[in-house]
Amino acid sequence: MKEIIIATKNEGKVKEFKQLFDQYGIQVKSLIDLDTDLPEVEETGVTFQENARLKAEQISAMIEQPVLADDSGLVIDTLEGRPGVYSARYGGEPTNDLLNYEKVLTEMEDVPEKKRSARFICVLAMAIPGEKTIFKEGACEGVISTEPKGENGFGYDPIFIPNGYNKTMAELDQSVKNKISHRFNALIQLETWLNEEINAGEKDE
Ligand code: IMP
Repeated sequence: MKEIIIATKNEGKVKEFKQLFDQYGIQVKSLIDLDTDLPEVEETGVTFQENARLKAEQISAMIEQPVLADDSGLVIDTLEGRPGVYSARYGGEPTNDLLNYEKVLTEMEDVPEKKRSARFICVLAMAIPGEKTIFKEGACEGVISTEPKGENGFGYDPIFIPNGYNKTMAELDQSVKNKISHRFNALIQLETWLNEEINAGEKDE
C-alpha cells in the first residue's frame, strides 16, 4: 500500500492521520484532494462500526483504492448510550456543539455524581479492495460534569472530565488530549496492525 484515502473533509483529522502514515511511507489524501466529486455517504448505521464501514467501503468501491474512515461520538451510561451515533446532531440540525451539550446537561440535571459515567468512542474502518475490512476501536473513559468549562477542543469536550483528571477535556491542553483521546487510542491499534502487515510483507519477499 503506497497511498491511502481518508474518508473525511475534516482537516484536523487528516493532519493526525498524515503524521501516522508518514512514518510508513504511505501517502495520505483526503476527499478534499480528490479531483472527482463523490456523492455524500449517508450514515444510516445504528453503530459506530456500521457507519465507519459504510463510509470506508462505499468510497473504496467508487475509487478502487484503500480507504480509511472513522466514526466517533459520546456514550453516556445513564442515558442508555445516548447521544452515541447521533452525537453530531443530538441538539438538532445543523450540527451545533453548544445545543448538543446543553441538551445532555438538561437531561442529566438530577443525575448524582456517581452515576455520570461516560466514554468517547472512535471506530476506524480500513477498506482495501478485494480484502476484508478491518476495524480498530479506541475509547476514552470519564464522567459528565454539571456545567461546561474550558475553550479547547470541540464537541462535548467542555462537559467531559476524563478519568484521572479534575478538569474537562476543553480545559486540558490539546497535547494532553491527543495522548488520551479515543481517536489516539484507535490510531495506536491501527499502528500495531500496520507494523504487523509491514513485517508480514517483508517476510514474504
Ligand atoms: P464525527 O466522528 O466527526 O462524525 O464526530 C461525531 C460527533 O461526536 C462530533 O460532532 C462531536 O459532537 C462528538 N465527538 C467526537 N469526537 C469528539 C471529541 O474528541 N471531543 C468532543 N466531541 C467529540
